Amino acid sequence: MIQKPKGTMDLYGVDASIYKYIESYTDNYMKLYNYEYIKTPTFEDTSLFYRGVGEGTDIVNKETYDFVDKGNRNMTLRPEFTAGVVRSYIENKLYTDNIKKFYYFGSAFRYERPQSGRFREFTQMGVEVFGVKNPYLDSEVISLAYNYLNGLGITDLKVKLNSLGDEITRKTYSEKVKEYLKVDYDNLCDTCKERLEKNPLRILDCKYDGEREYVKNAPKILDYLTEDSISYFEKVKEGLDILGVPYEEDSSLVRGLDYYSDTVFEIVSNLEELGKANTLCGGGRYDSLVKKLDGPDTPGLGFAIGIERIIAVLKELEVFIPKEELDIFVMDLCNDPLVYQVVDDLRGSGFSCEVDYSSKSMKGKWKLVDKYNPAYIVIIGEDEVKGAFVTLKDNTTKEETKVKISELLDYLDMNL
Ligand code: ATP
Ligand code: MG
Repeated sequence: MIQKPKGTMDLYGVDASIYKYIESYTDNYMKLYNYEYIKTPTFEDTSLFYRGVGEGTDIVNKETYDFVDKGNRNMTLRPEFTAGVVRSYIENKLYTDNIKKFYYFGSAFRYERPQSGRFREFTQMGVEVFGVKNPYLDSEVISLAYNYLNGLGITDLKVKLNSLGDEITRKTYSEKVKEYLKVDYDNLCDTCKERLEKNPLRILDCKYDGEREYVKNAPKILDYLTEDSISYFEKVKEGLDILGVPYEEDSSLVRGLDYYSDTVFEIVSNLEELGKANTLCGGGRYDSLVKKLDGPDTPGLGFAIGIERIIAVLKELEVFIPKEELDIFVMDLCNDPLVYQVVDDLRGSGFSCEVDYSSKSMKGKWKLVDKYNPAYIVIIGEDEVKGAFVTLKDNTTKEETKVKISELLDYLDMNL
């Protein structure tokens, strides 16, 4: 039997309902903040991610799904959305003299070791904001993510915040960290041994080495920031205070991607059950990325939230997800084509409707009613067909009424 690829999942039943609920929650929520939806391709030129995400990063080094297409082009399934959205922003000249705000929702692909909360195809919801550099905007974007999670019923959250300063600061600091960690080389985990040359900062938030005393005592980036970056960071924090978002400064937070500058943040759930996969959201400012991808010098920032992790939290917390109710179940007792016309009319008038195609016993049919739990049951047998009426049963009061077929839609309009 053919099975699903390793690290992927089938969503059905409760999980699928929660997924769809989150998707529509997202669309409604983003309207409050006046964001536009953007949809970019699932695969892009491989070079976009090399330049956009960065060659030294974990994602590009070992997590991308690369393939050569039949036209001999190097393609990569998107491991994240930012690079693609920035490419689209530039290619379609979406710049304005004001702010431009996008949100997305879709699959991302990373060749990771599958484990709880870590998949090879997963879903991200996120935002990208272009054109404005203002610390209060950073605070707003962080609070947008925080309130988004709160609105879904996830409250026990921690916002971790750091500043990476400008590009020069990052470079100087990177060198310092590299020198410091070189001394400890033999104790580093295999992954971090590789990271030391290309991406030493990532060692600071390694899930293994980051926990060790020596690594924890590494030089702190806050000691290297310029005056401007420090005062920018202070304002971001002031903004968060005003917006009522609790946060914690975390000097080890560097994020996995190359393009970040100044503000970086993560939102972590305190639920123990999530283990190491407890980061629900990660993001930050990327002021040099648009230019790096050959666009105009435009500041930007954004974040991404992992939807499967949200689903896991909602299930763990037993958050109630409203279920779509079925309006009508049509019980066909005579197999007359009239039944299907009634069903079609009901749906055409906007009532959700299920009909029993099976030739089940009466007991079996009432079992289906229990399963679907409709507001009304429309029963059509031979008498009903002859007399052009239906027997309508209110599934709450259990009362039965006979209603002429010509009056059925009006009757339901008034009662449902
Ligand atoms: P981690 O440190 O856990 O690997 P990351 O820094 O690689 O996370 P981001 O690139 O910031 O993660 O992605 C944003 C969010 O997407 C994460 O906070 C997480 O919720 C989710 N995410 C990332 N990778 C995966 C994955 N392989 N499976 C499921 N969700 C993921
Ligand atoms: Mg990762």
